[in-house]
Amino acid sequence: MDLKTIKGIGEKKEKILNKLNIFSCEDLIEYYPYSYIDTTKFKKIKEITQEACYSFRLKIVSLLENKKKKNIRVIKFLAMDEQMNYCNIVYFNNIFILKTIKVGFIYEMYGNVKLLNGVVEIQNPTLQGKTKLIGGIIPLYHLACGITNLDIIKATKELLKNNDLLAEKLPEYIINKENLISYKDAIKNIHFPNDRNIFLDAKKRLSFEEFFFFLISMKILKRSEKEAISFKILDETFKFIDSLEFKLTNSQKKVLDEIFKDMKSSKQMNRLLQGDVGCGKTIVAFISIFNAIKNGYQVAFMAPTEILARQHFEYAKKIFEKFDINISLLVGGLKEKEKNKVQQEIKDKKVDLVIGTHALFQEKVIYKNLGLIITDEQHRFGVKQRLLLSKKSKSPDILVMSATPIPRTIGLVMFCDLDISTIDELPNGRQKISTYFVSEKYEKRYINFIKENIYQGRQAYIVCPLVDESDVLELNNVKNLYERLKFEFFKDIDISFIHGKMNPLEKENIMNDFKSGKIKVLISTTVIEVGINVVNANIMLIYNAERFGLSQLHQLRGRVGRGKEKSYCILVSNKTTDIVKKRMDIMTSSCDGFYISQKDFLLRGYGDILGYRQSGEVKFKLIDIQKDYKLLENVKKYVDELLKEDPNLEKEKNKLLKETVFKILKKLNNEIIMN
Ligand code: ADP
Ligand code: MG
Repeated sequence: MDLKTIKGIGEKKEKILNKLNIFSCEDLIEYYPYSYIDTTKFKKIKEITQEACYSFRLKIVSLLENKKKKNIRVIKFLAMDEQMNYCNIVYFNNIFILKTIKVGFIYEMYGNVKLLNGVVEIQNPTLQGKTKLIGGIIPLYHLACGITNLDIIKATKELLKNNDLLAEKLPEYIINKENLISYKDAIKNIHFPNDRNIFLDAKKRLSFEEFFFFLISMKILKRSEKEAISFKILDETFKFIDSLEFKLTNSQKKVLDEIFKDMKSSKQMNRLLQGDVGCGKTIVAFISIFNAIKNGYQVAFMAPTEILARQHFEYAKKIFEKFDINISLLVGGLKEKEKNKVQQEIKDKKVDLVIGTHALFQEKVIYKNLGLIITDEQHRFGVKQRLLLSKKSKSPDILVMSATPIPRTIGLVMFCDLDISTIDELPNGRQKISTYFVSEKYEKRYINFIKENIYQGRQAYIVCPLVDESDVLELNNVKNLYERLKFEFFKDIDISFIHGKMNPLEKENIMNDFKSGKIKVLISTTVIEVGINVVNANIMLIYNAERFGLSQLHQLRGRVGRGKEKSYCILVSNKTTDIVKKRMDIMTSSCDGFYISQKDFLLRGYGDILGYRQSGEVKFKLIDIQKDYKLLENVKKYVDELLKEDPNLEKEKNKLLKETVFKILKKLNNEIIMN
C-alpha cells in the first residue's frame, strides 16, 4: 500500500520515509521503535548526565532568543523544573511554537537532550498535550531530517486502524504451540505498549516471525538452486590423493565425502568448508578441483589477497605438476597485457584452473565451461556476492572456505543458505603453540629469544597494526618498527617489512624471499593474517595485541606451528585493563579456534567479526543473534518441519506465507541487481 494514502503523509514526507528504507505501509508498520519513553515519569534536570530522550514537566521562564541563523529560525526558551534548576528549550524552524508555548505556564514534554558545555538543552520537544491520546509510554523512532517522532506516531496510529495490514502471517498451529500473541496484537504493542509484559510478548512474537521468514526465504532460495553438473568421481582423483606427501586425516576424508556427494548430484553445490587454522582445508579444495578438471571443466579459485592467490598458485603448480593441468594466475597486479592474455586463455579453455583475487569475476572474464568455484577465507564475501558469482556461468558448484570457525547458532543464521562441512582435527604431529602475554618492557628478552631461534635456522613474523605514523594513536607501525628493531637488535640479521599498500611486485619479492629463507624476520601488518604458509617460521610476535580481535589473533598465530618445530606466539601489549587481560587469557590458555571464536562472538558481537555482514546484508530489526539463539533454534525446527511437509509452499494453507516469502526474496534480488 502506498504511503501517501496515510493522512498527513504527502510527497515530501514520503521521500523522507524512503530514506529510512520505508517504501510502503507494510514497511512503516514494521518500522519498530528503537526505544520508549514513559512520559508519566518526569526527569529532573539535575539527574541528566547523558544525552538521550527524556520526559519533563517544566515551567517556561522566559524567551531567550528568536532569530534567524543561516536560514534557520532558532527559538530558545529558558525553563525550570520543580527543583528550580534551569535548562534551555530550543526549536528550529518552528515559528508556530510561539503561539503554543507561553511564558509563565507549565508544560509536559519529551524530547532529545543535548549537553552543551554542561547546559541541558532540550531540542524540538513534543508537548504532551498533543500526544495525550497515546497514553503514558511513547515509542521513539529513528528519524531523518524533515520527519518528527510525532509524524511517525500519527501515521502508525492511522495504519493500525487498517485490519488488512494486520492479517495473521504465521500458521495457526505454530502460534498455538508457541503461545504467541497475534500479529495484530504484537504490532499494536510493539509500537504502543501499555506495560512491559505485553511489550515482551510483542517482541517475542515479532522476533520469532522475523527469523521465521528470513530462514524460510533462505531455504527457498537454496532450494531454487539451478541444475548443475553431475561430476563423476574419478579413479584418477584417488591416484592424485595417493601422490600427496601425507595421508589425509579422517576428518579431511569425511568432508571430502560430503563434497563428492554434492559434486555427483545434479543440484548445485553450495557448501561451506570450515575448520581451525592449519587443519588442511586447502588440500581438500585442491582434490575437488582436480576431480572437476579431470571431468573436463574449468575451475576458478578466488583468494582474498594477492599474496594468498600467489601462494595457492605456487602450491597448485607443485602438486599438479605430473598431472597435465594448465594453471594461470589472474590478479590486479598483473600487467594489462598479461591480464588480457590470461583472459583470452580462459575464454579459449586453454586454462583449466585460474587462481586469483576478485579480478576473477569481472565482466571481462568469460569462462568457457566453469564447473567449480572455490573461494578461500570466505568470511570476506557474502550471500550477495555468491549469488552474483553463480550468475557468471550456467551453474558451477560452489565451495567456500572459512577460517573463522562459526559457532553453531551463528552459523545457523549467517550461513543458513549453505551446507556446512567441518574439519575437526589437525594433522598428526602438530605441537601446541606456546602463547605468552607480555608488556613491551620485556622487549629485549623476547627479541633475544627470536634471535636465538634465528641462529638455529628458524624464522619469525612480527605483526603490528598500522602502516604509517599516526599521531593520534601511539601504535607501533610497520615502518617505524622496522627501523627501530633493525637498528637496536637486528643489525646483523636480514629483516624486511611488508604491508598492503606496497605495490604487488614488491610484495611478491618480499614474500618469496621470506619463503626461501633469505629474509629471517618479516615485519608486517595483517596482510599476512590469513592463509600464508611458511613452514619454517616458528615465532609470531604481535605488538599492540589489544587492537586485534581474538579470531584475528588466532588466525595470525596460525601462521606458525605449521612444521615440526616447537612454535611460539608472543602477544605484546602495555594495556592491562580487565577486558584486555581477559581476552589475552583466552589466547594464552587455548589454541582451539572454535572455542576462541565463540568467546570472540560473545565479547564483540558477530557483526565485527564477519565485517561484511554489517554492510547491511543480514540486518535484523529485533533479533540479537547472541541472546536469542534459543529462539533461533526453535524457529529452525518449525521451518524444517514446514518445508518437509510443503517444500515449495504450494499448499493452500501456506498461501499467505508464500506471498510474504516471495516479497522478501524479491527485495533481496532487487538489491542484488542494484549493486
Ligand atoms: P588451513 O586449513 O588453515 O587453510 P592449510 O590447508 O594451509 O590449512 O594446511 C596447513 C598445512 O598442513 C599445510 O602445510 C599442509 O600441506 C599441511 N597438511 C594438510 N593436510 C595434512 C595432512 N593430512 N597431514 C599432514 N599435513 C597436512
Ligand atoms: Mg587456508
